[in-house]
Amino acid sequence: MARVIAIDGPSGAGKSSVSRLVAKRLGYQYLDTGALYRALALYLTRKGIDPEGPDDKIVNVAKGAEIRLDGERVFLNDEDVSDAIRTPEAGHHASVFSARKSVREYLFKIQKDAGQSCDIVAEGRDMTTVVFPNARVKIYLDASEEGRAARRYRQLNEKGMPITMEEALDDVRERDFRDKNRDIAPLIRSEDALYLDTTNMGLEAVVDRIIKEAQ
Ligand code: C5P
Repeated sequence: MARVIAIDGPSGAGKSSVSRLVAKRLGYQYLDTGALYRALALYLTRKGIDPEGPDDKIVNVAKGAEIRLDGERVFLNDEDVSDAIRTPEAGHHASVFSARKSVREYLFKIQKDAGQSCDIVAEGRDMTTVVFPNARVKIYLDASEEGRAARRYRQLNEKGMPITMEEALDDVRERDFRDKNRDIAPLIRSEDALYLDTTNMGLEAVVDRIIKEAQ
């Protein structure tokens, strides 16, 4: 098995920026598992699938979704959905569908396979606990609720998706609650993961710390 750096944490903690930079500096591939959940949820929503519906129905429809990550771009059955999956609505759908067993099982294999072929930095909610429990390096990236909401606020407004600070805070709180309290693969701080509170840390400092850990 190739080398895996597994990074978990709540939304808005800076996992994507950090993981992307760590991967670049070490020459690893970056695996954005949230993008997989977002793309599959987009597909299921477009197909009119009820997130509360039966698992067998969800999995049957999910089989029609071919999701491919190509560098920074995300493709759903060859359609570039990189922007469509980044809206707050798409994040909400991803969070709701990701609580379902059928969805998690479907994406599990894709994530596992990615860790077989090349060295990766994998980030999400259950990288350190479920998908890569034997990862060489495990990190739990956290930040204050306000800090994470502020990051969301900046990111979405920069992308031309206006959102108020209050909406960003609500979004972060709602997703945290769902991700931490679901029955399957909830977001938890793994005991063997290095805990990093990035609230008062610059991006480079966080990246340096993880690289030190990897070395
Ligand atoms: O990380 P990102 O915000 O893109 O993830 C979107 C949603 O996908 C999360 O709120 C979470 O519910 C779900 N997710 C997950 N497990 C992962 C990655 C993401 O449940 N490994």
